[in-house]
Amino acid sequence: MIGPIVRELLLQNRETFLISAENVANVMYQHPLSHGLLVLSKVGYTKIPVLGKDDRFVGLVSLSDVVNKMIDLQTISMDPLEGLTVADVMETNVATIDENWELEEVLHLLVDSPFLPVVTEDKVFKGIITRKELLKAVNYMVHELERRNIVSPKVEELKEKLYIVS
Ligand code: AMP
Repeated sequence: MIGPIVRELLLQNRETFLISAENVANVMYQHPLSHGLLVLSKVGYTKIPVLGKDDRFVGLVSLSDVVNKMIDLQTISMDPLEGLTVADVMETNVATIDENWELEEVLHLLVDSPFLPVVTEDKVFKGIITRKELLKAVNYMVHELERRNIVSPKVEELKEKLYIVS
């Protein structure tokens, strides 16, 4: 359980966690894969969201997903991308969170992903929460915790520290 003081400090700037959809680079699932490669190369992110009809979140596509299609043991070529769409290589089994996300859930999921897509009940893409933004909040919290509060060990830990045998 996250205690109320830590929770309050971590969530103080909750509204800054979300990078809203209009500022997140994305590709449509039906776009040619060569277009996906172009977007990924231009934006400089290794992985971006894939959207479907009505801005619904359908998955993620990474540079390595595309490059893997382009290479064999000896050569690299754009030719194998011919006829393929983003949907052919995207990752679909992706953890998402809703707009009323819980701190515990976000902390847990960000251990394994550098960012989490935020979606509505109907899977409409609202943006992402990145590990970087969350770490900024953790950084703030660890600096503020003892500046604003008296943090003292619980009795048993204190006894251990003072070598008191009971
Ligand atoms: P960062 O926290 O900025 O290092 O971003 C972590 C990951 O989140 C990046 O590698 C991208 O996969 C994704 N990401 C962050 N910002 C954006 C954005 N504006 N558009 C698309 N993807 C993003």
